[in-house]
Amino acid sequence: MAIGTKSDDEIAAMREAGRIVARILQRLAAEVRPGVRTADLDRVCVEELTRYRVKSSFKGYRGFPAHICTSINDEVVHGIPGERILREGDVLSIDVGVVHNGFQGDAAMTVGVGTISAEARRLLEVTEGSLGAGIAAAKENARLGDISAAIQDYVESNGFSVVREYTGHGIGREMHEEPQIPNFGRPGHGPRLRRGMTLAIEPMVNSGGWSTRVGDDHWTVVTADGSLSAHFEHTVAVTNGEAEILTLV
Ligand code: MG
Repeated sequence: MAIGTKSDDEIAAMREAGRIVARILQRLAAEVRPGVRTADLDRVCVEELTRYRVKSSFKGYRGFPAHICTSINDEVVHGIPGERILREGDVLSIDVGVVHNGFQGDAAMTVGVGTISAEARRLLEVTEGSLGAGIAAAKENARLGDISAAIQDYVESNGFSVVREYTGHGIGREMHEEPQIPNFGRPGHGPRLRRGMTLAIEPMVNSGGWSTRVGDDHWTVVTADGSLSAHFEHTVAVTNGEAEILTLV
């Protein structure tokens, strides 16, 4: 399938959706501390969705039961908020998606709960850094594989591994549009990037091996070896210069 491009007006609408996502994510991250339940974060998200008059992209998506994804420690993505209590030293990935005036925004970040280990801190820094490397490679006339390879090189040169079973994605009126954006690949390969493409770039990085499995709730993805995992995501627009990050406060 061809990869669509957005008009300037459509990108302006996505910028609004993205700003709301970023503000909600910032609010949720500020609520994270030992003793908080992930269901509490979901409730805070509902308050914010109401305040901004937007809908969660995730609630009801293929039956997903909550408004955000919360994934703790060895959980990679798609964790369901619930009664689990966050503890000092945990790492929590929060993924937020909203629909605003028909357009989607999608972003994620991993935060430490209280004080975290040096290794966990490094995992978060490397994962966020790999997102930056991927975004820096998302230039007009570059190839999709340039983004994938930039992320993979950044992660692996720091001794961690990229999850392979889940990818970033095109985004617009739908949360998941073409293309899939793997976090591993070969530079110079894949479709050429054009101005106006809107992409959700989202490295998922494990401190151990890259394999994952899906948990008993049929949603939560965990690392196969029990190692820690982190996830950072931005929605960006390809321009004729540096890609514009749309999910900024
Ligand atoms: Mg996404």
